[in-house]
Amino acid sequence: MAETNISSGGRPTLPMQGVPQPSRDEVLNLPRVHISTHPVMAHKMTALRDKNTQPPEFYRLVKEIGALLAYEATSSLALDRLPIETPMGPMIGQRLAGGIGVTPILRAGLGLAEAFREVIPDVQVWHLGLRRDENTLQAMEYYNQLPHRVDLQVCYAVDPMLATGGSAIDAINILKRRGIPRLSYVGIIAAPYGLLKLAQTHPDIDIFIAALDESLNDRGYIVPGLGDAGDRQFGTV
Ligand code: URA
Repeated sequence: MAETNISSGGRPTLPMQGVPQPSRDEVLNLPRVHISTHPVMAHKMTALRDKNTQPPEFYRLVKEIGALLAYEATSSLALDRLPIETPMGPMIGQRLAGGIGVTPILRAGLGLAEAFREVIPDVQVWHLGLRRDENTLQAMEYYNQLPHRVDLQVCYAVDPMLATGGSAIDAINILKRRGIPRLSYVGIIAAPYGLLKLAQTHPDIDIFIAALDESLNDRGYIVPGLGDAGDRQFGTV
């Protein structure tokens, strides 16, 4: 993890300065990592990244990209048989087996959680507040609305930017302590550094992302990235 690097005035400095980072090629073929290659995704991602895209449009795009990611991430969910009657007669249909949870890491994960709700309306939403300390880049938990009773077949931790991996790793640790049988992480853009850390720390989860970028800058932002995903969704630039 990044070393602390605080100026004498106590202001945030450059926590990733001098920290070695893997290249894109080194992490491209990690097991259980799914990186979208869909042309519609590439098209939407370009609009999302563009600095001229304003918050209402940006939020709409996060939801559209999130719906495509949710569709991909749910492609191997378990099904139960469900006998039904169509107007033409009986048939054996199917329904999703067990509950499905989505945990948005606040606040930037809210748009992706909304996308999951649009794809699967009865998804349970478990909010988790993890704030990134700008000096150390460590994640700190400040809000936790995870229920005590758990009856899920899978839970998706969602956060658009997988930068150093700190928040994602902590979120998965917290969800693992709830005993959920299957966990996945869904994000929009990953840096090789955070992707490798998450995949190495939690090799038993699937990771779904729309794009893998080049690197982190000295402040821990993804390059080329899209800037601050929370500010751009909620207009707090
Ligand atoms: N969080 C963001 O919103 N953007 C980054 O580039 C990194 C972390």
